[in-house]
Amino acid sequence: MSANFFVVLPLVLLVALLVWRIWFYEKKVDLKSFTQKWRDILNKKVSFYADLSPRDKLRFEEEILYFFDDVTITGVKIKISDTDRLLVASSAVIPLFGFPELRYRNINEVLLYEGSFNEDNQTQGKGRNILGKVGSGNMNRLMILSLPALHAGFANENSKSNVGIHEFVHLIDMADGAVDGIPESFMQKQYVAPWLKLMHQEIDNIRERDSDINPYGATSQVEFLSVASEYFFNKPDIFQRKHPELYDVMKKMYRYSS
Ligand SMILES: [Zn+2]
Repeated sequence: MSANFFVVLPLVLLVALLVWRIWFYEKKVDLKSFTQKWRDILNKKVSFYADLSPRDKLRFEEEILYFFDDVTITGVKIKISDTDRLLVASSAVIPLFGFPELRYRNINEVLLYEGSFNEDNQTQGKGRNILGKVGSGNMNRLMILSLPALHAGFANENSKSNVGIHEFVHLIDMADGAVDGIPESFMQKQYVAPWLKLMHQEIDNIRERDSDINPYGATSQVEFLSVASEYFFNKPDIFQRKHPELYDVMKKMYRYSS
């Protein structure tokens, strides 16, 4: 064997390694940085997580770490805790959990407010009836959530509402370029027609006061998607019993496995 071989081989390996790093390198998170304290918080507060298999719990934790990496969570005039940050991240991870390959690309920061706010994003003064919103215009790539409302969404007694999930579903709806209540970024084509049909039937039911879905869902297709999703993810058993057809189509749409 020539001496050249021992020179050339390491060089070839080095070049191959460099090419691999440049072309195939993907940001990885360190699962070990997910602490037992965080796990305890999730088990206590997030029933979606508590019900997962041990393997899926690990994937949920990984998705949370990716979210923390991508999105800044800021308390506005308030100090925020690990629990607050975990509830924001859980709200993001839950609706996309059926799609391990998908991540949010349309948000940089979540602001947590001390309470509800008005159209001008003020927590003082008149008209403070907003619990959450996703920004547009100069607030693009920003979400605001009322911290008490975020917590209430994960508390059992307020089971059908979850403002965190509501707002992240709006982001999912927006991801395909059209805000229309049809999440085409992941919804398979064959489910669009049944989804629209069932959605409009249920909107009629809400208007006739013959539905237990939050009446806010009847204001538009966009709000129906978010409101029905809150209920679907917070209380899947009750949603399935009361709305079996909607449950079936949403289960397929979100690739939800119970
Ligand atoms: Zn909404």
